[in-house]
Amino acid sequence: MSNASPAAEKRMRLRFAGTCRVCGIDIPAKVAAVYERSTKTVRCLAHDERPDVPVVDGSLDVGTPGASARREFERRRDGRERRVRARHPRIGSFMLAVSDEPQSTAAWNTGALG
Ligand SMILES: [Zn+2]
Repeated sequence: MSNASPAAEKRMRLRFAGTCRVCGIDIPAKVAAVYERSTKTVRCLAHDERPDVPVVDGSLDVGTPGASARREFERRRDGRERRVRARHPRIGSFMLAVSDEPQSTAAWNTGALG
């Protein structure tokens, strides 16, 4: 095999916008593309000969196992707090302090931890 080593290229979501080396179109940040280490250029996934290689996520949190579950948990928890406080403006904080998370919300937290 005379091909370049696999590490020479990386499929990832771009941290910064780039321009495709092959067709010259702009590739916005966070869009999946192929990064070529040797030339420090990027190209569209459309030019990739190995579409079976999974996309590696270059962003910080995205793609971390459990991250999406954690976000869903926080979204649900925040929504619940807003609802309780809206319904009970005076004692909402007290109610939140003494009551447990409902099972459906707690399950998302379990997923985030696991
Ligand atoms: Zn291109």
